[in-house]
Amino acid sequence: MAKTVQSIRGMHDILPPETAAWQFVEGRLRELMEAYAYHEIRMPLVEQTGLFARSIGEVTDIVEKEMYTFEDRNGDSLSLRPEGTASCVRAGVEHGILHNQQQRLWYMGPMFRHERPQKGRYRQFHQIGVEAFGMTGPDVDAEIILMAARLWQRLGLADEVRLEINTLGSAEARAVYRRHLVDYFAYHESQLDDESRERLHRNPMRILDSKNPDMQDLVEGAPRLADHLDTESREHFDGLLALLDALGVDYRVNHRLVRGLDYYNRTVFEWVTDHLGAQGTVCAGGRYDGLVRQLGGRATPAAGFAIGLERLISLVAEHGFDTPAGEPHCYLGLLGEEAVASGHRLAEGLRDALPGLRLQVNCGGGGMKAQMKRADKSGAEFALILGADEVREGRVTLKPLRGGEQVNLARDAVANELATRLQLESKA
Ligand code: ATP
Ligand code: MG
Repeated sequence: MAKTVQSIRGMHDILPPETAAWQFVEGRLRELMEAYAYHEIRMPLVEQTGLFARSIGEVTDIVEKEMYTFEDRNGDSLSLRPEGTASCVRAGVEHGILHNQQQRLWYMGPMFRHERPQKGRYRQFHQIGVEAFGMTGPDVDAEIILMAARLWQRLGLADEVRLEINTLGSAEARAVYRRHLVDYFAYHESQLDDESRERLHRNPMRILDSKNPDMQDLVEGAPRLADHLDTESREHFDGLLALLDALGVDYRVNHRLVRGLDYYNRTVFEWVTDHLGAQGTVCAGGRYDGLVRQLGGRATPAAGFAIGLERLISLVAEHGFDTPAGEPHCYLGLLGEEAVASGHRLAEGLRDALPGLRLQVNCGGGGMKAQMKRADKSGAEFALILGADEVREGRVTLKPLRGGEQVNLARDAVANELATRLQLESKA
């Protein structure tokens, strides 16, 4: 036998019936976007490497160690997108759809990061992202937080996730704070772990993010950005918290919340859960008021978030509403040559009459026993059986597969019978 080929480590096939759960969640997400009048944008999966270096930041984990970067045939450095915001801003600037106007956009699709694969962390994963341009907030910050909150409601996850929120202030305030922070950690350098020592001069705010238990006291004692905020950012944040209070959204202000991407300013937030182990962040976002200009557009305020779909779907599978498995309602068994054309004609007629019907027709022949075995395996509730006698007499046998009496029906009564039994809308 020939040697088999495996998928790339950290990049997974999604098989049925799991794909049905994905479609269900994706469907709820699309409805959510429509409910808030956000419009879909689709960007390429590959961009110039420089785009990510300029936006996410040269000294971030993503750009330094996680990107799939390669030279294409004409020597350009390209990268698979590690996230969507940079591409979305690039597209918005390129097509002139951000300047002097408001835009509410969303996208959904695969992202690529060369991380150490583990539960909730993959090398190809999927995000849905929301980006709102042209509004300084905090009203729009509240809007996107409400959107996420509504999603948890709709998926039965409202009790499983909680909102953590912080403000990063202005770039200037952060630069001053950064110096205080470096002084503090440098003074205590002997207590830093290797990862934090490496971050000390390059990305010191990420030290606040450290999950190392031995570092917690040190981090707790660090100067707080909240004490170095500029007045406008302070007021912006107070305004957002007041809005969330007025709207009944629960949150916890987490002064240590920073994000791993450089473009964020002011509001940052995460929705976290205790159910997914170490990978507990389901949704992450914030404001990025400087990014459009940084990528060559006119200064445009912006805010957004991204949800990791793998984490969301495993949370739904374990703690949310049941997702449909997508089994057929009905399996049509065809016995004998005579039944094949007649049966497919019957099936087409049923699909015309009942647009919601999921009908699987037996292909590949087989006797009664083999066909009923396939019917059972398909998960269908009913089998329809068409043999030579039925074809001649213009009748069909309907057999409930999960208990109940079988009945013999006139061929033109089948659609109505199925509509009633399956509570499907009939077009006939
Ligand atoms: P984390 O702290 O979990 O590494 P991050 O700060 O790198 O997340 P973002 O870039 O903000 O995450 O991405 C938003 C969301 O996308 C995350 O909250 C998570 O749900 C999901 N996500 C990020 N990286 C991965 C990955 N490698 N595999 C699966 N999901 C991911
Ligand atoms: Mg990460």
